[in-house]
Amino acid sequence: MSSFEDFKISKQLGYAIEDLGFEKPTPIQEKAFPVVMSGKDVIGIAQTGTGKTFAYMLPILQQLTFSKQKNPRVLIMVPTRELVVQVLEEIEKFSKYLNNRVEGVYGGTNINRQKEALAQGTDILVATPGRLYDLVISRAVSLKSIKKLVIDEVDVMLDLGFRFQLNNIFELLPERRQNIMFSATMTDDIENLILDFFRGTEKVSVAVSGTPLENIEQVCYAVPNFFTKINLLQHLLKDKEAYKKVLVFVPNKKSADIIFDALSESFTEDVCVIHSNKTQNYRLRSIEQFEEGVHRILVTTDVMSRGLDLTKISHVFNFDTPSFPENYMHRIGRTGRAEEKGSSVLLYTEKEQPAKEAIEELMKMEITEKTLPEEVEISKKLTAEEQPRIIEPDNPHKRVDAPGPSFHEKKEKNKKTNQGGSYRRELAKKYKKPKTRGDKNYNRRNKNKKR
Ligand code: AMP
Repeated sequence: MSSFEDFKISKQLGYAIEDLGFEKPTPIQEKAFPVVMSGKDVIGIAQTGTGKTFAYMLPILQQLTFSKQKNPRVLIMVPTRELVVQVLEEIEKFSKYLNNRVEGVYGGTNINRQKEALAQGTDILVATPGRLYDLVISRAVSLKSIKKLVIDEVDVMLDLGFRFQLNNIFELLPERRQNIMFSATMTDDIENLILDFFRGTEKVSVAVSGTPLENIEQVCYAVPNFFTKINLLQHLLKDKEAYKKVLVFVPNKKSADIIFDALSESFTEDVCVIHSNKTQNYRLRSIEQFEEGVHRILVTTDVMSRGLDLTKISHVFNFDTPSFPENYMHRIGRTGRAEEKGSSVLLYTEKEQPAKEAIEELMKMEITEKTLPEEVEISKKLTAEEQPRIIEPDNPHKRVDAPGPSFHEKKEKNKKTNQGGSYRRELAKKYKKPKTRGDKNYNRRNKNKKR
């Protein structure tokens, strides 16, 4: 266990920490400090409440030298205005004895006042991506001196669709800079972002705090495919006594909707769903009703369940097996809180088996395997991703003139060709020759003939 002295921080920071009454660094601070100080690109996996803001701010403030220059040198991007305010407050706490300049900008408020504030110059800029971009485009601020870029809550940022805005901002930043990211969960989107933009990124993560694993009974089922998983879920959730308050974690919005629809067929009013395509009001109502016990089952994506203070969850279902083991830990940490006993159920396909083993490796324990109940129907229906793809590049028996792999007979309804307006064809059929109504020339011709 280290202490703040081990970090060799400046006196001014030390006094601020003393005033705050922090005795020792939290685990994420302990792990992130040396990596952020080293100047490497880093992704920290930690949830709100673990002291993550300080984990990146402490080394940044430690390294930020005094300067009179106008352009900011540290940029912190967060997904929401509330977070801008929260991060500003945290920075102010630690900067009590420092004289650095900090500004926060976010959308939905008067841009001119923000422009005026930025005109005074700042060292650290905390911003939401959209407003930041507007300010840069209108030349209210320049990003050419940014040495350190922090993206906090990257998973929320990407889930809210900020990828495009991030790309735009990356274009405006100097090549030589340190990238520091923080996220509660690791996702494929984040991995792609890192692969596209950053190099040699080091990962630091901490296990979920607060939930001892002993409180959670963990079981798993090997299930052949997506739709059989739904059948199993429907089967197990019939037992309303045992499955009192259930969180079902799903991989993405699309599957959230499919699973919600399927469960609603069996359990109608018992089920609700939250994901980022639902309106804020809808999500709030769903969560409230789940918490009050109106709904027994809440289907959610990892990112949406963030920061929700849900109590007395009896079961956490992992509909998919997270490919990043930390995410599994975050999910199951939703149950078994405050000395209560909780349960988690993991459903995994053959393809997900390595991910399940990685989770077991992280926990240093095996998850109890259960056999699929006989009543559960094995579905033959496959999702697009599950369809087998047969690729035989060197098949000697392949006919040279055979249609390509994507060839298939058209369905009857798709065989029709476009014949133009059906009305004209109907008339032609009736009169055995093309005929139009309302055609001036045609009518005139016919009139002349009659005369
Ligand atoms: P965060 O995870 O950044 O949202 O921080 C959660 C809370 O923990 C904030 O109110 C911080 O001020 C506080 N905090 C940060 N670091 C420490 C520490 N080393 N000891 C005690 N509290 C801390």
